[in-house]
Amino acid sequence: MSLPTFRGSRSPGPDPAGETPWTSESDWQRQALPDELPDDWPVLAGGLVVVAAHPEDAVLGVGGLISRAVSVGSRVRVVTVTDGDASHPGSRLPGSVLAARRVRESDRAFATIVGNPGGVAPLEVIRLRIPDRTVADHERDLVDRLLPLVTDFALCAANWRSDGFADHDSTGRAASTACVEAGVGLLEFPLRMWQWARPDDPRVPWSRAIRVDLTEVQRARKERALSCLASQIAPLVPGRDDRVPLPPEKLVYFRRPYEVLFR
Ligand SMILES: [Zn+2]
Repeated sequence: MSLPTFRGSRSPGPDPAGETPWTSESDWQRQALPDELPDDWPVLAGGLVVVAAHPEDAVLGVGGLISRAVSVGSRVRVVTVTDGDASHPGSRLPGSVLAARRVRESDRAFATIVGNPGGVAPLEVIRLRIPDRTVADHERDLVDRLLPLVTDFALCAANWRSDGFADHDSTGRAASTACVEAGVGLLEFPLRMWQWARPDDPRVPWSRAIRVDLTEVQRARKERALSCLASQIAPLVPGRDDRVPLPPEKLVYFRRPYEVLFR
């Protein structure tokens, strides 16, 4: 079963997230909620593959959907494009050390999401190890590498290609091309968009948005999974590397009892 692919967005422009004030979660409460993905949605039974630019993107954007797919016995594969070695520019921590840390944290988060304290199984996690912040330079190669990894799945969830962050946008475009070539349905999850967009923002394809409601168990698992992402939600080295990519005001977008994706 193939889903329509979203093609129509205008790019929000270079680095719209910037460091300008971001949209608060209380502002987002004014946004009308999109329709819900039905509980018995048949596509999930055909397997879910997630394509994510950075180690924790899948947890943030579709941790609940992954938990739901696993709970109904679907085969689930997560493909992470980079190991995230560049999230702290200027840090004294070498990129390789930072990447290893983000990979470990995301593995713990995935294990939490699937409810297996011993590891990520039944999830399959594949890491392509393209250098962080260079995905645009590898986009065609990425399509070729993704093609065999998305084939045989009914549904792919990938970064939204208009998220306004180069690695996310390139990953979304590459996943979209691979899914069209492989005949796989695609949903795209926004991450940075929650910072730069505003409720009813015309740059956002709200008419193509769908909502994934999380059960209490799924929400609790996602909440615990988010707490595994220490390098993203707390200072790397307090007093020295204080920059926090996901402070509480941004993390709150991903603590909702639902997830929003574009079809
Ligand atoms: Zn990311």
